[in-house]
Amino acid sequence: MSADSLLQLLTQVIFITVFGVVCARAARHRTRANMDTALLFLAFTLIIAQQWASAVLRITPAGIAGAMSGAFLMALPYLLLRLVDDFAHVPRALMWSAAAGLVLAVAALVLYQLLPWSSGAPSPLPLPLLLALVAYFVALMVYAAARYITEARRASGVTRRRLQAVAAGSLLLGLLLVLAPLQMAVPRAAELWQIASRLLGLGAGLGYFIGFAPPAWLRRAWQEPELRAFLGRAAALPHLPDRSAIVEALERGAAGALGVPGATIGRWDEDEQALRFQLRGPALREALARAQHLVSQAPFWVEGNRFLLKPGRMIAGRAFAQQQVVLTTNPKRDDPAHAPFYDAVQTRALLAAPITAGERRLGVLVVYAPRAPVFAEEDLYLVKLLADQAAVVLESHALIEAAARARALEEAARLKDDFLSAAAHDLKTPLTTLLAQAQLLARKAEQMPEAPADRAGIERIIAEARRMSALVNELLDAGRVGQTRLVGQRTPIDLVALATEVCARWPPGRCVLVSAEPVVGEYDSHRIAQVLEHLVENAVKYSPNGEPVTIRVWSEGDQVRLSVTDRGIGIPSSDLPHIFDRFYRAANVDDRQFAGMGLGLSICRSIVEQHGGRIWVASTPGHGSTFHVVLPIKAGGGAV
Ligand code: ADP
Repeated sequence: MSADSLLQLLTQVIFITVFGVVCARAARHRTRANMDTALLFLAFTLIIAQQWASAVLRITPAGIAGAMSGAFLMALPYLLLRLVDDFAHVPRALMWSAAAGLVLAVAALVLYQLLPWSSGAPSPLPLPLLLALVAYFVALMVYAAARYITEARRASGVTRRRLQAVAAGSLLLGLLLVLAPLQMAVPRAAELWQIASRLLGLGAGLGYFIGFAPPAWLRRAWQEPELRAFLGRAAALPHLPDRSAIVEALERGAAGALGVPGATIGRWDEDEQALRFQLRGPALREALARAQHLVSQAPFWVEGNRFLLKPGRMIAGRAFAQQQVVLTTNPKRDDPAHAPFYDAVQTRALLAAPITAGERRLGVLVVYAPRAPVFAEEDLYLVKLLADQAAVVLESHALIEAAARARALEEAARLKDDFLSAAAHDLKTPLTTLLAQAQLLARKAEQMPEAPADRAGIERIIAEARRMSALVNELLDAGRVGQTRLVGQRTPIDLVALATEVCARWPPGRCVLVSAEPVVGEYDSHRIAQVLEHLVENAVKYSPNGEPVTIRVWSEGDQVRLSVTDRGIGIPSSDLPHIFDRFYRAANVDDRQFAGMGLGLSICRSIVEQHGGRIWVASTPGHGSTFHVVLPIKAGGGAV
């Protein structure tokens, strides 16, 4: 057997095998696309059968047999156009003209063979007829190939590759036909033409096979990279902050893995007792709202950006209620009551799989396509896999959230404990002094009722009571931070005068103010005084060596600057970033030596920030610290 006949036989066997496969598929699922594919390969098979018959009988088909072989050939582009229509819309007028063209072509072929001059011997067709037939054939083939190419560009994943294969098949078949006139023009290279046409035929056959009836293993191989990418990304998804971002990423991943334009996830909403889908884009929202009015007693409704569906209703609801994967390539037939809905979402094929984690029904994953043949039976397993993956991701996210909530509660409980012990400790010190002093006064009064009042003792009681009152105020302020504004009405005040007052409350030489010129700005004077008092109090407290504390106040453009410097213990650099946090105390302070709760600076920061200002500290452990405050001069002057 020559290489040429081997090639020819191989091509023929491929076409016939594919015919067998697609027939079996069409018998199992009688979808229009499956039927059209079977018809296309039937036409190829009939052409081959005729070639075999004429080889065995050693005759060239003539008469009606000749006309029939021509008719099978002419049917190819029309059948291909029908398949284009299965994947993408073809204008009705074009479909009808192509059908009419086919009828005319077949009629012309038959009539020509039946004419009286036809002697029964094979006769070449007259040129005008031949040209008209070739033009019809080539025009439709080119149109089909062009449509497949554009659709392939738009599609993704498996669908894209299938459409690319079909486009390649159509181009090769078109080339095969172009080869015929070339063969006539250059008959000397007959052998070359022969081999080229065999190869083109083989290529076309393979292209159609891969495109229209891809074997399951090939589909899987195509899906694998997308699936791998999706699973790779899925591992990070539970850590995304908000659930709708996770759902969106899952939807995109599922659509990509299946090579379909759309996928959507409906989550079970316990309160609404419905599946809740997120709607993206106003057009879809409006289309669905319209569909809701067209369907009587619609089991779905639109609420803002959400689409809600009752469980057990429509295809997605059924998949959820029955906990089964559902595939439909004709939703309007399978769920006729809701046809307007499927029109609104332009869906001709739909796959829905329940998202379930153990016993917990979390929702449903729906992948959909505007054209039916995009899905295959084998995709059911993939959708189930994706839905399971979605369940894992959503469950993990729920667990991460629950853990974060538990941690926050724990932290709150810990803060409360810290707060109570710090508050108790801080209140106890002045209270003990106060009680001891008061008991001393009481004893003195009992023993020496006539003696003059102990003025120094009374002063001490007043001082301790003031300290307690300041502490209680601090506690109250800390409770208020974050709930209400601390800063009230602002009036013009001179910060230098304010700082003078604050400094004067300390024994001479302990606090030094180096500014003299007035610096006026609009502030809540009570709160700014509180900040200044606290900074000076801290500076004195954390300078056990008794070194003086320096206050500076000056203005800079439309800002006022304020600083409090001490030469005390300083703050370790690792504590600096947290020093303004609630309840935070630096590592170098010992509770027994320096009483405190770590609240004052956090209150100062709130006050300063509510004035539109900033507060920060520069410090060297063992050498002292400088706290800086910058405030805008005018209220409403914007943040600094
Ligand atoms: P408290 O002084 O009651 O602990 P603060 O909020 O006023 O609370 O201060 C928080 C922490 O900042 C203090 O515990 C201390 O570690 C550190 N700190 C504040 N001011 C100074 C300062 N002038 N010198 C050294 N450390 C300071």
